[in-house]
Amino acid sequence: MTDKQDSDIAAQLLHLRGQGLSKGDPVALPLVTSSMFHLPGDPDGGAAYGRVDNPTWEALEHTLALLEDAPCVAFPSGMAAISAALFSTLKAGQTLLVPSDGYYVTRLLSSRFLSQLGVTVIERETVRYAQDGFDGIDVVFVETPSNPGLDLCDIAAISAQVSAAGGITIVDNTTMTPFGQRPLDLGADIVVASDTKAPGGHSDLLMGHVATRQPALLEAVTDWRKMSGAIPSPNAAWQLHRGLETLEVRFDRMCRSAGQVAEVLTQHSAVKSLRYPGLPTDPSHGLAQAQMSRFGFLIGLTLSDKTTAERFIEASAYLRPATSFGGVHSSAERRARWGDAVADGFVRISIGCEPVDVLIRDLGAALDTV
Ligand SMILES: *Cc1c(COP(=O)(O)O)cnc(C)c1O
Repeated sequence: MTDKQDSDIAAQLLHLRGQGLSKGDPVALPLVTSSMFHLPGDPDGGAAYGRVDNPTWEALEHTLALLEDAPCVAFPSGMAAISAALFSTLKAGQTLLVPSDGYYVTRLLSSRFLSQLGVTVIERETVRYAQDGFDGIDVVFVETPSNPGLDLCDIAAISAQVSAAGGITIVDNTTMTPFGQRPLDLGADIVVASDTKAPGGHSDLLMGHVATRQPALLEAVTDWRKMSGAIPSPNAAWQLHRGLETLEVRFDRMCRSAGQVAEVLTQHSAVKSLRYPGLPTDPSHGLAQAQMSRFGFLIGLTLSDKTTAERFIEASAYLRPATSFGGVHSSAERRARWGDAVADGFVRISIGCEPVDVLIRDLGAALDTV
């Protein structure tokens, strides 16, 4: 399923730094934590101050840019990246569309803060995104597959309609990463992502980034970081850089395993319904085949009720009961506990890097006990 572009990028990523080294340079990326830089005389383009410049961020952004095939700006979390994209594109009097069933903090940020600044915020279900058109909407925020429901919408069709209506399309690509879906290639103006998830991959850092091929948008997002001070720590940037070196191998294993796990679990009698875009029976499978190169590592499992769902998570030896996803270790949670509009028995499973036969055995046995 991996196309040539993904393989080339994965290989280049591992040699990106090495190919620019001089004799005696460290092969691994140095971690630079300086707030001050040696700056005699006129400031003439060199690194000046730690809120604006950092060589470790720059190396990370260079790597992210290879991954996204677009210039990138790193942020201290996914929400910091989303804030940068929204606050640097929206003005008072404009209208923002966000998914009613997407990541809930994006919705809260919009309704709580952007609306106070004179932005009209409207919501729509992911599956109906393109249905009512985009006239009069200035910024359209898309999340596909939606987190947690795993519904899809057509990025190419939406981006084309939004652009024809004079708006900007921002796609949150957190659940897929560039190794699963490339929204900029499908016509989106901006990609935002939480690198806290699969890109970091070890549940030990928070980071995010914005990617765009449009110089004016890139400049606005960079200025936002500089002036708001929402800057990543060099430490987290260094850790994420290291995580990215194994992203392709982890993501490939996680997606493959998720496909196999989904196939087995969907047949279990305790499962009321199961969402995984890679299953031929999934309502979004056709669209998934058209716009995704892998089908992701998230599975949406609906069991009969809250108790059954909690018992299933508890009975598994290999599902960490935790919020967030994308780690090397599989994890799961009942999303209704945060108020997401899903059934009480809905469990979002994030498949990790455990050997798949062990996972299938463990999850099957856990379902048998509920
Ligand atoms: C986790 C997540 C975010 C927020 O990322 P943080 O790194 O926690 O700030 C945004 N969008 C989606 C889809 C997410 O899953």
